[in-house]
Amino acid sequence: MPGADDIDALLPQTQCTRCGYDGCRPYARAIVEGIAPINQCPPGGAATIRALAALLQREALPLNPENGLEAPALVAVIDEERCIGCIKCLPPCPVDAIVGARKLMHTVVAAICTGCELCIAPCPVDCISMIPREASGECPASPEPQANRTRYLAHNERLAHRAERHATLLAARKQAVQGPQNSTGRTAG
Ligand code: SF4
Ligand code: SF4
Ligand code: SF4
Repeated sequence: MPGADDIDALLPQTQCTRCGYDGCRPYARAIVEGIAPINQCPPGGAATIRALAALLQREALPLNPENGLEAPALVAVIDEERCIGCIKCLPPCPVDAIVGARKLMHTVVAAICTGCELCIAPCPVDCISMIPREASGECPASPEPQANRTRYLAHNERLAHRAERHATLLAARKQAVQGPQNSTGRTAG
C-alpha cells in the first residue's frame, strides 16, 4: 500500500492550500487516511490525478471545480512603484521567492515562484498581481516539484530557527528584568 511519501512525491509542491489542506504533505496524508479524494489539486490538474489514480489503483476522477480550475501556470509580479516595503508578503511565500529589504521595494524571483498566490492577500497596497508565466517573458517553465519541496523545507527551517531565537531572547530579557532567581524561584538578595 503506497504511503504519504509516495503520494506527496506526485504532488506539485506549491503548498498553495487549494486542495483544502495546509500544503501538499497534509493532503497526501488525508488521501492515505481515506478522508480526501484524489481530485482536489488544481495546480497538478488531470496529470496529477492520473498519476495518483495509477499509484493507488483508483478511478481517475475529474478535477473537483470546488477546489479550482486547471489553468496555465502563473507567476507573481510586484508593482515596484507602489510597493511600500512592509515585508508582509515575505513570510507567507513558501519558497522565499520574494526579495527586498524593509522599507525598500520588493521583487519576485520568477525562476522560483510557484504561482501559489499566497503573497497576494497579505499585501496592504494590492501591488502584487499574478500573470501567466508564458507572458512574463522570462523563465516560462515552472520550477520542478522537487526544487519547490527543497525550498519549502528550507523556508520552514529558517522560520523555526527565527522563532527559537526570538523565544530565547524574550526569556533572557524577562530574566534580566526579574533579576537572578534562587532554586525556589524567588529573587535572590
Ligand atoms: S499543490 Fe496541490 S496538493 Fe499541494 S497544496 Fe496546492 S492543491 Fe494542495
Ligand atoms: S512569490 Fe507569491 S506566488 Fe510566487 S511562490 Fe511566493 S507566495 Fe507564491
Ligand atoms: S506586501 Fe506588498 S507592499 Fe509589502 S513588501 Fe510585499 S509587495 Fe511590497
